[in-house]
Amino acid sequence: LATIAITDGLTGLFNHRHFYERIELEVKRSHRSGFPLSLLMIDVDHFKDFNDSLGHPAGDDALRELGKVLAEGRRAADIVARYGGEEFAILLIDTPADAAQRVAEQLRHRTEKVFGQNENSTPHSRPITISVGVATSPDHADNSEELMRAADKALYRAKGDGRNCVRLADATAGSDKKDIVS
Ligand code: GH3
Ligand code: MG
Ligand code: MG
Repeated sequence: LATIAITDGLTGLFNHRHFYERIELEVKRSHRSGFPLSLLMIDVDHFKDFNDSLGHPAGDDALRELGKVLAEGRRAADIVARYGGEEFAILLIDTPADAAQRVAEQLRHRTEKVFGQNENSTPHSRPITISVGVATSPDHADNSEELMRAADKALYRAKGDGRNCVRLADATAGSDKKDIVS
């Protein structure tokens, strides 16, 4: 029962609720340890079109498959969650921004490859790509809300820049915030 309460029914990843509990905890832990914590916010590109042309059940299958791609190769301590409908979040423990950006780029590339046109494609299959926003504590945020906001803003920028890309939170985000405090 305890496992069911923290698991997303479709993908088997952690659910939204568990993600929130863990990001709170991990930001605090990162402050104590002095090791950075990075967050990837991932959103499937034009997924409404995918559903509209292939149907909702095919969309569900794709989300399940994408969940596997995102979880593959992650460290045991990392938290991979389905954050919302076609949105995923990954907490990378003890990971600085540059390394997190590399992980994000690997996931973007892997997704493009797995869901792209290849010898297994049918005339009915459609490519799937993801956009990713990356933010790191303490560089871009002091608490979990700021970390999520910074990653969300970066994700929004990735969408605006044409999708299927990775964007890092503004370097100025942390200093802006400190300016307000001082
Ligand atoms: P964008 O690139 O801007 O993110 O475009 P989008 O179409 O992905 O964005 P939008 O937020 O308009 O649509 C998200 C779509 O994701 C709408 C909905 O049909 C689909 N979706 C959300 N949750 C699920 C789900 O659990 N299963 C399926 N099959 N589709 C889902
Ligand atoms: Mg979305
Ligand atoms: Mg989307």
